[in-house]
Amino acid sequence: MGKVIRWNLARNKAIQTLAKFNISIFPLELFQLIDKIPHLEIMSYIEMCEELSHLGYLDGKVTVAWVQEHLADGSQDAALLRMSNSLDTIILYNSDLLVYGHTEQRIRYSIAHEIGHFILKHKFQTMIARNGISAVVYNAFEKEAEAFAASLLMPYGTFPSKVSVAELREKYDVSKKAAEIMFDAVSKQTYALPAIRLNHYGFSHPRQYTLPSNPFSILGFKYYAYCKNCHGLTGGNSPNLFCSYCGSKLTALSFKYGFFKIHEEFGGSIMKYSEIKTDSSGHAVECPQCGSEIDTTDQYCAVCGIFLINQCTGIYETNDPFAMPTEHISFEQKTNSGCGRKLPGYARYCTGCGALSTFGFQNLLQNWQKEYMDANPMKIAEITDQDLPF
Ligand SMILES: [Zn+2]
Ligand SMILES: [Zn+2]
Ligand SMILES: [Zn+2]
Ligand SMILES: [Zn+2]
Repeated sequence: MGKVIRWNLARNKAIQTLAKFNISIFPLELFQLIDKIPHLEIMSYIEMCEELSHLGYLDGKVTVAWVQEHLADGSQDAALLRMSNSLDTIILYNSDLLVYGHTEQRIRYSIAHEIGHFILKHKFQTMIARNGISAVVYNAFEKEAEAFAASLLMPYGTFPSKVSVAELREKYDVSKKAAEIMFDAVSKQTYALPAIRLNHYGFSHPRQYTLPSNPFSILGFKYYAYCKNCHGLTGGNSPNLFCSYCGSKLTALSFKYGFFKIHEEFGGSIMKYSEIKTDSSGHAVECPQCGSEIDTTDQYCAVCGIFLINQCTGIYETNDPFAMPTEHISFEQKTNSGCGRKLPGYARYCTGCGALSTFGFQNLLQNWQKEYMDANPMKIAEITDQDLPF
């Protein structure tokens, strides 16, 4: 006998959950919602991995693959883990966007799906996962969690009167596929929509940030930082002390393994600056000035002569008219006088010491202020108005 899929219950529960925890701003802030749900926590695979290693599990050598295999039921995306010594349940999620080419939107959907299992009290979130549950029941639970996730992220009733796939993606920060399925339901299968509506809701800035053309330049780092000054996102394998776009000193907004967290918290305002394509050691893949083909061993472009590796120069930008002139210093001296840090192709400044990068020094990258103003003409106007002293 088949298990009945409780579609309506799942969809309505999603809306009730939003209402109960006073969530009314979209795109939905998942971390904020989870924070409000009693006995529910969230951790990424890599955070769990470090935590267990720190506690001495497997002689301190827990790997992400081990967490995925043994605690997350082998899932690439996410899973629920019930703690044996408390009432707490942990949503484990894979925050690594490089693995399997995941997007932030897919991670959001996976987390919403696991919240669904938790709220709908599906009885399989244990260490032994699916054991003891028939495939039929498992599949019914999966469908219920999917229906819950769709309505949680995109609550029908908050939609504009004429909805489009693009609008759904922008307003709710979901994948194209998720938006298409919802669009289909709205236009063809209105029975597949929740009966309950949210009474109060609003929208924050759409999260427009998309990854740079070369994701390796911003993904796969251990630390990420969001700059309050220029709204740029930087990555590094040690905490960055300075912003690579504007050179200002970064303070508190640094996250370990935090790309997804930064997307969730600042995704609406992250500014994407232009970059020069480089390999992982900061070497340009073609000449950023004349476009000539180059060899990976070339330090200088054979055609136009510019220095091809982005690294710290040790030279600080200054507006001080009495500062020591630097023109007499040879480029070899400059490229060897910095802290030695190799920098990604978007770095105008050294992330370790705040000095100009070789690309920044040679004016190969666009001025960040100009790029910011071009991208945000309204914001600049607002700021200028407020700053007027009369
Ligand atoms: Zn599931
Ligand atoms: Zn900055
Ligand atoms: Zn050149
Ligand atoms: Zn430096």
